[in-house]
Amino acid sequence: MNGEAGDSDRRGFNDASAGEGGRLLLEVVTPTRTVLRRRVESVLVPALDGYLGILAGHAPLVAGLAPGVLYYGRRHEKKQRLAVSGGFVEVAQNRVLVLADAAELPEEIDVARAQAALARAEERLRRAGEQVDVVRAELAMRRALARLRAVYGDRALDRVTYVPGEERLAE
Ligand code: ATP
Repeated sequence: MNGEAGDSDRRGFNDASAGEGGRLLLEVVTPTRTVLRRRVESVLVPALDGYLGILAGHAPLVAGLAPGVLYYGRRHEKKQRLAVSGGFVEVAQNRVLVLADAAELPEEIDVARAQAALARAEERLRRAGEQVDVVRAELAMRRALARLRAVYGDRALDRVTYVPGEERLAE
């Protein structure tokens, strides 16, 4: 072991494949694939009780994720987006590991499919009370909205009539 390697180790990771760009290693994995593996400066994740911002040096934590948009990139610059449908995030030693049920980069998202899923969920919520599983419909709506917001940003909310508990984020 020499001192050069120790520098990377102190930052919590040492992986050239993640590329340059920041002191945090962001990894987003689903049961079937690795969606993203990149060095970044900041990450904003949709935790169950609200958005959680993570910068280098963040204390270790584990939190549950709601369906939503994950933002990442450089501090003080426009962030990149990806959709997550729920799961967990673990932060430790400048590594942000997102274990998602499903996650998609904007270019992977089938917009027509997400719009159809949104329309189905909205219709179910309009019929709430008639044997509709409201919680399930709201979760489906949030997943669809997350996908549309990952592609279009918050403009995606403009045509939505009902958004359960959603807040807009300045990007
Ligand atoms: P749908 O009703 O359209 O299936 P869903 O929210 O129920 O949507 P999920 O169960 O979250 O779908 O995802 C199942 C799989 O399909 C996952 O691999 C997910 O990445 C993928 N997926 C779902 N919707 C889209 C979409 N609009 N574009 C691309 N991939 C999608």
